[in-house]
Amino acid sequence: QMDPYYRDTWVEVNLSAIEQNVRSLSHVYKDQNTAIMAVVKADGYGHGAVPVAKSAIDGGATFLGVAILDEALELREAGMTTPVLVLGRIRPMDARIAAKHHIAVTVFSKEWLVSAKEYLDSSNPLTIHVKCDTGMGRLGITDPKEIKEMVQIIHGSDAFYLEGMFTHFATADELDISYYQEQFQQFQQFINQLEEENISIPLIHCANSAAALRFPKRAFNMVRFGISMYGLSPSPEIKHQLPFPLEPAFQLKTRLAQVKKLEAGKAISYGATYVTEREEWIGTLPIGYADGWIRAHSTNGGTVLVDGEELPFVGRICMDQCMVRLNSSKEEGTIVTLIGHDHGQELSMDSVARRLDTINYEIPCIISKRVPRLYF
Ligand code: PLP
Repeated sequence: QMDPYYRDTWVEVNLSAIEQNVRSLSHVYKDQNTAIMAVVKADGYGHGAVPVAKSAIDGGATFLGVAILDEALELREAGMTTPVLVLGRIRPMDARIAAKHHIAVTVFSKEWLVSAKEYLDSSNPLTIHVKCDTGMGRLGITDPKEIKEMVQIIHGSDAFYLEGMFTHFATADELDISYYQEQFQQFQQFINQLEEENISIPLIHCANSAAALRFPKRAFNMVRFGISMYGLSPSPEIKHQLPFPLEPAFQLKTRLAQVKKLEAGKAISYGATYVTEREEWIGTLPIGYADGWIRAHSTNGGTVLVDGEELPFVGRICMDQCMVRLNSSKEEGTIVTLIGHDHGQELSMDSVARRLDTINYEIPCIISKRVPRLYF
């Protein structure tokens, strides 16, 4: 249940869009045995992990992915029993907590296995997925030969259950697929090594959203669906290559806190960097950088929608408030759209990201906890 809130700034999350995006992906995979992991790390990319996870499951997801153990525990505390994988490192000393809550974890070195074993016992085995670094340079074993030693440790102990092996692509969202192909071939080396050692692992996975949408024939038996579950394209360049239309789920809205007419020559906000050129209508918005609406929005030509009109920020964004220039007087309380739709116009996540010279992923993630998420 939502805590009550008393402010006029909020995020609207369209959960049926999330469910639909997962369902659309499941149609792509209808003729093959490939499970969908809904990636709900970082509080569901800022959308709210638990509601997103439930909608994804309604859409056909059967696995959840998070970055850290705390995020997995949040899902368990919410009563969710779906399999969960922690994609990042957990501390070996926390292996017992993961095992107790049936949370699968990522293993990226034999040293980690040896350390974690100290904290486990066979009455509560830890489910593990081995991470292969095929060119991301982040977590994972780099040499397929390491598989053999790791499996020896795993099979030599009943404290572990080996459920999965995976890798992560660095460039699956680029038009040039050569590096993706190199990584895929490298992953194939790891799989070959398993076959040589006669080891069978139930879940093999490599595809993020970009790879899941573009290369379904190379998805093995699970895909990790993150950004596109939220209705966003993994990159602008592959936006027009996607197999189905994505439905964005996130809108950021506020209401005019005050509207005032200022005469020419009046300064706005810290530093008095903006000065009215003529008589101007100024609207004050109750959102600022403490909400994740960072100062760069005002310095990089940011805009909002009010009654379908696109209007500029003026002056610097403050911690809790900021100002826009209106074309005419507006009622206090009028809805202002910072991300999303208004009267047939749209300020897309991609356009907001482009303005800040970043990627769409970053924008919902940095809208802070102080902004309530409302679910539709
Ligand atoms: N798998 C891993 C290991 C990740 O770190 C992420 C997120 O970056 C994903 C899958 C999901 O990627 P995307 O959001 O591009 O679908």
